[in-house]
Amino acid sequence: MTDYMKLGDKYLVHAYNRFPVVLERGEGVRLYDDKGGEYLDFAAGIAVYALGYGNRELNDALKKQMDLIIHTSNLYYNEPACLAAKELCEVTHMDRVFFTNSGTEAIEGAIKTARKYAYLKNNSTDHEIIAMEHSFHGRSMGALSVTGNVHYREPFGPDLGNVRFAQFNDLSSVEALINDKTCAVIMETVQGEGGIYPADEAFIRGVRKLCDDNGLLLILDEIQCGMGRTGYMFAWEKYGVKPDIVTVAKAVGNGVPVGAFLMTEEVAGSSLVPGDHGSTYGGNPFACAAVLEVLRQFKEKDIVGHVKALTPVLEKALDEIKDRHETIKARRGAGFIQALEFDRACGPVIENARAEGLLVISAGTNILRLVPPLIIEKDDIIEMQTKLDKAIERS
Ligand SMILES: *Cc1c(COP(=O)(O)O)cnc(C)c1O
Repeated sequence: MTDYMKLGDKYLVHAYNRFPVVLERGEGVRLYDDKGGEYLDFAAGIAVYALGYGNRELNDALKKQMDLIIHTSNLYYNEPACLAAKELCEVTHMDRVFFTNSGTEAIEGAIKTARKYAYLKNNSTDHEIIAMEHSFHGRSMGALSVTGNVHYREPFGPDLGNVRFAQFNDLSSVEALINDKTCAVIMETVQGEGGIYPADEAFIRGVRKLCDDNGLLLILDEIQCGMGRTGYMFAWEKYGVKPDIVTVAKAVGNGVPVGAFLMTEEVAGSSLVPGDHGSTYGGNPFACAAVLEVLRQFKEKDIVGHVKALTPVLEKALDEIKDRHETIKARRGAGFIQALEFDRACGPVIENARAEGLLVISAGTNILRLVPPLIIEKDDIIEMQTKLDKAIERS
């Protein structure tokens, strides 16, 4: 038997510290490694597998599309892209979409759109974007430049420039950074990698008003918290605000690499024109067949309703864990994006959980992140609770 770990360590760029496990296949909310080990998955490929593994109808839709055509380029129309565009606009309440291959590319597109919009307004190329401390928007240079974690950015400078960082959930810190050059505010509705911090209602409403009063575009990054994860199709719906530009990825393809940035007609009508932006693969028929089937299942299975209904069960289970262990300082989150904050590094808990047959991940050194598939049931939550409890006890 090939030792895949040895092979990977020799030939893959060492940009990750991988867990010592080779995952082979999945079924529903469970994963299996090459030695037959079974795991209950509360990581979902980092908030990707909303509809679970081995999704038969998705696989059938993909196989069907594969046999027709996988790729066409954007020089031509294709059926899945046009249909997926309509569906994605409907669920986001946006008017137009540009498909990308990843989250970070969606952020690049959002930044370019905001800059072009501002450029057409005042003919200047000297515009600033306000981003948030502790934010995460991706690893390409533009997305990295609006990412709050200085350790991710610093070795790769100089960055985009003209980005100012405000404190998340501190409205006056945003207001203080607005000047004649400001063109947009970008933030996650629920900060993910930065430690699972949902926006306060007063903050997000206040930012929306600041944007309106100052002619700025509000870009909401819903790559992790969107697509039903918070118990709303998109997390902003809870607050009664609407962004001008929105980015999605992760769950939108249920494992097929695809993302998108979307915008209102107002923004679309005075920003990108032919020649301004492009992607060889972006929105190809294969990826869009995935989006179309994912959105169909969201409707058919009322995934959002399911998350909403089970959120109290998940929160109660986590609160009980928190109450049993002094090392846990806090639980926070929204819907199925939850965190347990420890008073120490949670690496050992993650290792012990895997030994118990439970996959969880971190969001910063001390913060355990739970982003399960959205199709988990009550029994899965109880099983998670038992396993995580044991893992923490042993840590
Ligand atoms: C994961 C993530 C990204 C980056 O997406 P990639 O597909 O990894 O490029 C951007 N923003 C948020 C909020 C994310 O969680």
